[in-house]
Amino acid sequence: MHSTISLAARLSGDYPDLRFISGDEFRWDPEQKTIFYESTGEPAFLLHELSHALLDHDDYLKDVRLLEMERDAWEHAIFSLAARYEVRITEDLAQDALDSYRDWLHARSRCPRCSATGIQIKKYLYRCIVCRETWKVNDARSCSLRRYPLPTKNTRY
Ligand SMILES: [Zn+2]
Ligand SMILES: [Zn+2]
Repeated sequence: MHSTISLAARLSGDYPDLRFISGDEFRWDPEQKTIFYESTGEPAFLLHELSHALLDHDDYLKDVRLLEMERDAWEHAIFSLAARYEVRITEDLAQDALDSYRDWLHARSRCPRCSATGIQIKKYLYRCIVCRETWKVNDARSCSLRRYPLPTKNTRY
């Protein structure tokens, strides 16, 4: 089992079009074609980010699409990359990551006034179907929401 650093070195040889930069979180930046990785983190997360890159995951408009991309990236990492790079990715790890995403999405879709579940009307905007409140939400930059919890408190619009 290799470290994330040695895996990143190998990947940057295999994928010369992508840049691999050590940082404080795992993240794929489609504009800079750059994968940021936490050097002490699990190699599984690096393959997950690489999967976002290989699947051409770009910006998203709706949060539902975000969850789809997360699931696709884990599937790609597990079925197409894990064996080749000898990285063990357990079903639990992927499932935990996806669950944390679902929880987070659920929290941001909750109306700050009446707690009903709202609908997303624009990329950063939700509206409550019960009380008509609207609220803004932030970008989801990191794929590791469990370890880097983002503020889930919704701000009023
Ligand atoms: Zn409401
Ligand atoms: Zn992801």
